[in-house]
Amino acid sequence: MSEISLLLGQTLSFDADPFHGNLDDCTNWRRRGGIAVKGGKILDTGEADDMRTAYPSAQVFDYGDALISAGFIDAHAHYPQTAIIASWGKRLIDWLNTYTFPEEMRFGDPEYAANAANNYFNFTLANGTTTVCSYCTIHPESVEAFFAVATKHNVRAVAGKTCMDRNAPDRLRDTPASAYDDSKRLLEKWHGMGRLSYAITPRFSPTSTPEQLEALGALWAENPGCLMQTHLSEQVDEVKWVADLFPDTRDYLDTYEQFGLVGPGAMFGHAIYLTKRERDRLSEADAALIHCPTSNTFIGSGLFDMAGLMAQKQRIGLATDTGGGSSFSMLRTMAAAYEIGQLNGTTLHPAQLYWLATVGSARAMQMDDKIGNVQKGLEADLVILDLASTPAIAQRTARAEDIWQALFPTIMMGDDRAVKAVWVNGQELG
Ligand SMILES: [Zn+2]
Repeated sequence: MSEISLLLGQTLSFDADPFHGNLDDCTNWRRRGGIAVKGGKILDTGEADDMRTAYPSAQVFDYGDALISAGFIDAHAHYPQTAIIASWGKRLIDWLNTYTFPEEMRFGDPEYAANAANNYFNFTLANGTTTVCSYCTIHPESVEAFFAVATKHNVRAVAGKTCMDRNAPDRLRDTPASAYDDSKRLLEKWHGMGRLSYAITPRFSPTSTPEQLEALGALWAENPGCLMQTHLSEQVDEVKWVADLFPDTRDYLDTYEQFGLVGPGAMFGHAIYLTKRERDRLSEADAALIHCPTSNTFIGSGLFDMAGLMAQKQRIGLATDTGGGSSFSMLRTMAAAYEIGQLNGTTLHPAQLYWLATVGSARAMQMDDKIGNVQKGLEADLVILDLASTPAIAQRTARAEDIWQALFPTIMMGDDRAVKAVWVNGQELG
């Protein structure tokens, strides 16, 4: 077998950020393109005919009319909530108490955690998601299970033990010391192991005491190469609760800032109800915001201000927030981001939606030098989409006059049936 693989089809990549530049300058689409892959990385890209000539002995994978792009990157998910996705009728705090916490209690059992992690990666890979950044539960077993299955699939993945030492059931509480010790041990074992990274993970300020946030801030200072993920300003009631719990802080962000948890490697999920100070501080600190649109509609949280935050040049990624989010699909997630934009008076272009789900999330995770685009030297994590995957999509796409008109019906109506193939680390998944 040849050591070079050559993928042929329509190809799409980004030369720059389509939120801040001219569309034609930012996007690179080829009607008939080729991507050469070698040793897990993208070796070269170009017109299909040129690539065939340049790599005559390559093994050719001809995907015909399908679209080849970087695999999707889900920058915020809770794999332990896989089995409770689409649970009815609650808002944030009720959702946690009614559905999330009882389910998360089961993850001290390594077998249960392994089964959930297996299901989770099967669902995400089937949807063309090649990198996820997940919360686990308070149990180290849940982190071990996640990373073990990620290793099996050879995916680039990020996760961390979720830390909570108050306002959660007894069996789901750790302590400042145990949160520090367990996170440190897991981080030392898994961070930088193969394609894996660790994220220090306080769930959110309401479930951590100041002492716990302080301990995790210290751990991050000792391990600045790790990411830090948490939630910020998702619902109005939650923001008020945080103000009651932390009477001496200026705002929600300050509950993290005080303890050294705001910086370039910080990823804040939701970030809907931000004050001007919080926006300015997030921008100044170069922290990342993670937009979780299906979750924001499903749990009834509110409308993320994409236009305003992009105008500030915030780093923004896109995510499912499984299972508060209602889908494993980043296509469905892009559709929801479009709908939230519409409700907020901003029409997001298909290129912007696609960029968010690939390059945007990679940037938010500080991994855009490794994944999220089709460029020479990046890791070969790719998704191949059939842009006519159902009769309803096909009849709409047939009228398309350009790639964006051809892609948008799949963004709005597509699901795992549109995913024709997935490549992880230079290998096509069987
Ligand atoms: Zn979340």
